[in-house]
Amino acid sequence: MSNMQLDTLRRIVQEINASNGLHESLDIMVKQVSEAMDVDVCSIYLLDERNQCYLLMASKGLNPESVGNVSLQLGEGLVGLVGQREEIVNLENASQHERYAYFPETGEELYHSFLGVPVMYRRKVMGVLVVQKRQPQDFSEAAESFLVTLCAQLSGVIAHAHAVGSSDLFRKVANLSNYKTFQGVAGSGGIALGRAIILYPPADLSAVPDREAEDISEQLELLEQAIESVRAEIQLLDEKMQNSLMSDERALFSVFLRMLDEHALPLEIQDEIRAGSWAQGAVKRVIDKHIAHFAQMEDDYLRERVSDLKDLGRRILACLQEADSSHKELSSDSIIVGDEISTAALVELPVDKIAAIVTSEGAANSHMVIVARALGIPTVVGVTELPVNTLDDVEMIVDAYQGKVTINPPRRLRQRYKEIQKEEEQIAKDLKQYETKDAITPDGTAVQLFVNTGLMIDVVRGVQRGAKGVGLYRSEIPFMLRDRFPGEEEQRVIYRQQLSHFANKPVIMRTLDIGADKELPYFTIEETNSALGWRGIRFTLDHPEIFSSQIRAMLKASIGLNNLHILLPMVTNVSEVEEVLYLLERDWNAVQEEEQVKINKPKIGIMIEVPSVLFQIEEFSELVDFFSVGSNDLIQYLLAVDRNNAHVSSVYSHFHPSILRALSQLKKECEKYNKPVSVCGEMAGDPLSAILLMAMGFSTLSMSSSNILRVRKAICHIPMQDAEKLLAHVLKLNNPLLIKSWLENHFKNNGLADMVKTNRLITS
Ligand code: PEP
Ligand code: MG
Repeated sequence: MSNMQLDTLRRIVQEINASNGLHESLDIMVKQVSEAMDVDVCSIYLLDERNQCYLLMASKGLNPESVGNVSLQLGEGLVGLVGQREEIVNLENASQHERYAYFPETGEELYHSFLGVPVMYRRKVMGVLVVQKRQPQDFSEAAESFLVTLCAQLSGVIAHAHAVGSSDLFRKVANLSNYKTFQGVAGSGGIALGRAIILYPPADLSAVPDREAEDISEQLELLEQAIESVRAEIQLLDEKMQNSLMSDERALFSVFLRMLDEHALPLEIQDEIRAGSWAQGAVKRVIDKHIAHFAQMEDDYLRERVSDLKDLGRRILACLQEADSSHKELSSDSIIVGDEISTAALVELPVDKIAAIVTSEGAANSHMVIVARALGIPTVVGVTELPVNTLDDVEMIVDAYQGKVTINPPRRLRQRYKEIQKEEEQIAKDLKQYETKDAITPDGTAVQLFVNTGLMIDVVRGVQRGAKGVGLYRSEIPFMLRDRFPGEEEQRVIYRQQLSHFANKPVIMRTLDIGADKELPYFTIEETNSALGWRGIRFTLDHPEIFSSQIRAMLKASIGLNNLHILLPMVTNVSEVEEVLYLLERDWNAVQEEEQVKINKPKIGIMIEVPSVLFQIEEFSELVDFFSVGSNDLIQYLLAVDRNNAHVSSVYSHFHPSILRALSQLKKECEKYNKPVSVCGEMAGDPLSAILLMAMGFSTLSMSSSNILRVRKAICHIPMQDAEKLLAHVLKLNNPLLIKSWLENHFKNNGLADMVKTNRLITS
């Protein structure tokens, strides 16, 4: 594509991003495309799933009366053909094609050439974009590639706008109520009914939710104060820079001040507030409108002013947010909704009051989801089409088994889900009997079930549910809850709690595993490829002072308890372990000397997360006492699939044949070198995969406390002999979905239907 086309494309996308709702977006799109391509007609037809047709939603060139009225059945006409074939149709003379369907109300007879491109989103046709010209002629390859690129870029925008404008979409052909279901990815199972509370990052204009002003004069007052503070802030900046910047370089400050003049931006923002918006939303709307205007300008200098405008908007917003005392109190039916919610942001909330979590980004094995799972909070992530900003206080149902989120649900659906919640409570009651049982198969094989911890609540639940030890203490979680690196004594107290609650049982403490999606609020690591970057042991070895204070705190915490095991995350090289062993020896000697006590030397293990380790078990066995499989990361690296990316979440599966085969071989390899190996990734907590791991010979599985009882029940019901047969069978299958459904069937046929989370298919 030429630079000019790329420029045009960027401008169109920007303008659409700043538009208000679906109809405006589509109108902008057809107008801009017809100008950019110099065609006589540009039209967009969107798929109306309920009515099984393509509806003409916007057109530049066709009779405006036909918009919203002309629709084609799925296989009908050339538009239907594009949708059916899912490919471009480029015709010199459309009317001569056998599939041509003529609608007199469009005035289409004037146009001969036809180029139709499918708008695809997540492998599904969402609609068809058509350009037409009077002259009979083929469209060039350049025109085709421009439209294909445009449609690929815009499909997400259309999908999102589709969702935002769902209530008025197709209003002319169908009388819809405004309830809608969105598909995401199941994170942590469960059902919740409640109301949305939007969690959005501060000083981020794009994240401000739409909200009605409760008290208009109060909002006007807040705005006035905010504008006043920003004015003062800019005047101060201007004065400060007087000696270092020339007057023309300081011109920006006077531009800002002019924009803040009471007859400029403030007036427009006040109008929005008077029309009913709260002040933060009003600022967002006005700034968005101006940005869209600037973005269309051909002049590069003026286009650059967009970032200044954003800066000004952010300053006003920050002042408003500082003064905002209207933080919503959480109640027991609060559903936390956001684009992205970090672990730190989650654990700062009163977690016992959260009914569910829904995010438009993220995937099932992100760190936040793992924590939510440990807390037993139903969570759906990667709901890419969710119009987050518009959902404040909206009623919703979260079905975190199926990964579905329904807004404004009708009464019947609410009732059905309430029944299911009751059934859930019953299942939880039945599972209680497994709190005091051992995980032993009917034919006598025992499996040790350990708990994964991070917060104190995990420890409490783990003890209550009969965990035989802590298989993975994620030490980064307490680090996330602070505003600086915790000191040695602070850490000692936290670790002591973990160790003493499991006195006489092994507690495996993992050293700090930050990087990638495990961010510390006070230590940002910015990398383009963070999953492959500065993570886990790679980070701590570069910061021996942080590492040592952690090791020393762990050693001190273990005095008299002697149940500490240390686990190293993200190990890739033998040399990393050698370095750790050196540091550990040094710290162990120093702490014993300082404390004047003998401390048992902790056993040392490594996580198997980086695939290279699979091929060096022999060498690592010479250095460490045990291994623990971090399947969450191992899957990410073996399948080359980002565990946090919703777009590829269907590729991420612990039932992938390569994963199962790798783990089965790994177990044999560890036996050869006589090293204990356990699994502490999420696949250990899924009863279906836990049974396979057991059959491979893994006799210790560590999981979130919320999965212990289910896994224990499955083990108590499935004889080892059957599990081995199941494993032998699935190891021959070539497809993760097939393997999963084979296992589900086995469970269902053996009285374990309630263990199969996805068995509740409710369609809205
Ligand atoms: C894993 O990768 O499987 C694991 C247990 O570690 P985390 O999920 O904390 O990265
Ligand atoms: Mg990991």
